[in-house]
Amino acid sequence: MTDAAVGGWPLPDREFAFELRVCRWVEACWPPEPGSGGNRDSRSSHGGSLPDDRVAVVARQLGVQDRRWDTLVLECDRAKLAERAVFGERALDSDLLHVVRHAPPEWAWYRDALPDPGYPWQYVREAVHTAADRDLVETRKRGNRIEFRRRWRYPEWVERVVAIENKPDLDASAARVLGDQLERDVALGLADEVWVATRATDGADGVEPALLERLPVEAGILAVREGDGPAGLDVEPVWHPRSLAVDTPGTRILERPDGGTHDRSAARFEYVDAAWKASKRREIAERAYERGWRGYADHVRTDCRHFRVADAEAPLPACAAKGRCVTARECAGSCPEFEPEPPAWRAGEWPIDGGPGRGAMRLLERQRERRRE
Ligand code: SF4
Repeated sequence: MTDAAVGGWPLPDREFAFELRVCRWVEACWPPEPGSGGNRDSRSSHGGSLPDDRVAVVARQLGVQDRRWDTLVLECDRAKLAERAVFGERALDSDLLHVVRHAPPEWAWYRDALPDPGYPWQYVREAVHTAADRDLVETRKRGNRIEFRRRWRYPEWVERVVAIENKPDLDASAARVLGDQLERDVALGLADEVWVATRATDGADGVEPALLERLPVEAGILAVREGDGPAGLDVEPVWHPRSLAVDTPGTRILERPDGGTHDRSAARFEYVDAAWKASKRREIAERAYERGWRGYADHVRTDCRHFRVADAEAPLPACAAKGRCVTARECAGSCPEFEPEPPAWRAGEWPIDGGPGRGAMRLLERQRERRRE
């Protein structure tokens, strides 16, 4: 994928563009064609599709405090995802989820209605007020008691959580580090599946042989090459993952011996219960719902006169000054070539109403909207 161009814009040979293109492919083609994996000789170059009552929501760079995944796929119940929409586009954090998930249909004192949160009730009361401010619940005061009731039942809209690590280039030592990371993912079992997406090779295995040796068998492998699919990719599952036990307690590996001859240290780990996992999955899903994978648009300089969208379908940020696609990090306030859009563009005199930057923002926002439906 190094010398490819999308919409005429050369790609930077970096993970960012690879990741965005994988996100786009996943959004259009999830899940990878079933039935071809499970043995290392299998080949399939097409994605499949979810049943009609399911839909995939894709996000980037989300996870828990000590682990962030590159691409996250939420396989959602279509009807429940639509029910989720009444709670607004913004994510519900753990405090708000506690309130809306347990909000009663009839008026009740919040302390009677909600399970003990395990932290001071004063924070719960603040969350009830925040929920009311956002029209998520109704509140009233009876004496000095705050009562509340739900406006809508919060749906359990996520069926499965799938994590994908995007590693276009993997040598043996990078594969070892990644293997260690994935073993931790497997032990914790927070996601239903974990995959690695990597650049396809011409070898017999379709990917770097080191990957097949170093990665845990529970992790799936996607071989990514230029093609005619969404985002200009063909994505081939060369190894299908095993489903992880998300409903049972998991193991968080805190420390492990490095495996050297003289290393006799013991591994350190702790258990996490199933309830913790369930609540973290909900929180991650909420953030994914708000951000999607096009959230980078909030960080790149769409207000720069050189900003363009390369291939509206993908879409990738591109820069007319540099003549190529750019990463979110380089298309930032510190960019020495930044130039604000001329005021006349913003006033609507440019061919796209409000200038190309505004046009790009609107395009990305419309696409985010569509994917929440
Ligand atoms: S901020 Fe820099 S990288 Fe981004 S569009 Fe402007 S000139 Fe290009």
